[in-house]
Amino acid sequence: MKYDVVVVGGGPAGAMASKYAARNGASTLLIEEHASIGSPVQCTGLISTAALRECEIEGESFALNKMKGAYVYAPDGTELEVKGKDVMAYVIDRKMFDRSLIEQSIDSGVDILIKTRFTGMEKNRVSVLSNGERKEIHAGMVIGADGLQSAVCRSSGLPGCKKFLSGMQIEAPYAPENPEYVEIFTGQDVAPGFFGWAVPFNGMARIGLARTPGDKPVSHYLEKLLEHPVVTSRYRGSRTEHVVGGIPLGYPDKTAKDNVVLVGDAAGQVKPTSGGGIYMGAICAKIAGEVAAKTVRGEATVDEYEKRWRSAVGRELSIGMMIHKSLGKLGDNDLNEFISYLNQPEIRNAITEYGDIDHPSVLFRKLLSGSDKKQLIRLFGVVFRTLF
Ligand SMILES: Cc1cc2nc3c(=O)[nH]c(=O)nc-3n(C[C@H](O)[C@H](O)[C@H](O)COP(=O)(O)OP(=O)(O)OC[C@H]3O[C@@H](n4cnc5c(N)ncnc54)[C@H](O)[C@@H]3O)c2cc1C
Repeated sequence: MKYDVVVVGGGPAGAMASKYAARNGASTLLIEEHASIGSPVQCTGLISTAALRECEIEGESFALNKMKGAYVYAPDGTELEVKGKDVMAYVIDRKMFDRSLIEQSIDSGVDILIKTRFTGMEKNRVSVLSNGERKEIHAGMVIGADGLQSAVCRSSGLPGCKKFLSGMQIEAPYAPENPEYVEIFTGQDVAPGFFGWAVPFNGMARIGLARTPGDKPVSHYLEKLLEHPVVTSRYRGSRTEHVVGGIPLGYPDKTAKDNVVLVGDAAGQVKPTSGGGIYMGAICAKIAGEVAAKTVRGEATVDEYEKRWRSAVGRELSIGMMIHKSLGKLGDNDLNEFISYLNQPEIRNAITEYGDIDHPSVLFRKLLSGSDKKQLIRLFGVVFRTLF
């Protein structure tokens, strides 16, 4: 087998990258190790309206619910209501979403091989295990879209991501106060260094958390989250799905070399404030596909990918990482103080006006330019004073 571009991984980043490689004239093969696309699901499926557009998905066919706001709970139980101006995000059926993206790749001329695992590469020879059989594929370019434990990353000698969060989630019957609001839970008890969530849809919710690595297993915090007074009042018992997964944060210094580029989770292109990777991954995957096609024709080098994706989302990801690090350092008392600071009417209005889940830096810059910024600066520490 011989292809201009071989894409490893059939998630959203792989699907988008392969579509753009094929559309730019490259013969393209996508390989996926699992027997079916979109499975197993490791996602809450909360995706902004901008992300759906970026993925070139028309209509709302995968939407299980539309979200218009959020309740954020401080460790002391204080509730902060964050109202969006309109629909902020959709809760999607992630399996159907991934499959639809792959259908678009196929329509663009991409060949797909499932049950085919990338096992290594040497220059242009990609080794795979396809249906239990060892094979070699000649690839002009390789796009590693194979998630956070990227074998392409290891095999090419590119550096990995800087940090990982561990996440766990269940799906369960749930009776929320407001079915159009996401619930966010903070505090050392439920999600040290990050947050927990309940995302409702159709009488159910995806209830989960991600946390920075620590002594106790993530399952310990899931049980704590299920004991949270807000959750207990809404959770109707039993569990229908159980998800365990990692979230990479902090993109590496280099994501491309020779004939290899990394994209999506494999390149740490994930929003450090929310752990969402579909939006940034899609933006970068389009660039990866286009540059890979140009590179095999000798019209570009992989450096163009590195430059273009960093200029598109690098600053947002870096600011997001600073925010993540600062928030992660706040103890429960500081978090209580921070959330009560955000609960002031004028700040809540600013959140409604400027809050954007894909670009939190816009709101943070706005808050830092306001007249009452002393408390915020104190809470976030020196990092922010040097940032803007
Ligand atoms: C608990 C949890 C909740 C999340 N919730 C959200 C959310 O609400 N919104 C959001 O935007 N993001 C969310 N994310 C993150 C999101 O799921 C990822 O950022 C996104 O799936 C990354 O897409 P990707 O295509 O880069 O990688 P993946 O979706 O991980 O796809 C990688 C693919 O590569 C395949 N693969 C791996 N190794 C090989 C190999 N050697 N050979 C062949 N194939 C291989 C895998 O089987 C997989 O299909 C969540 C993550 C977790 C863990």
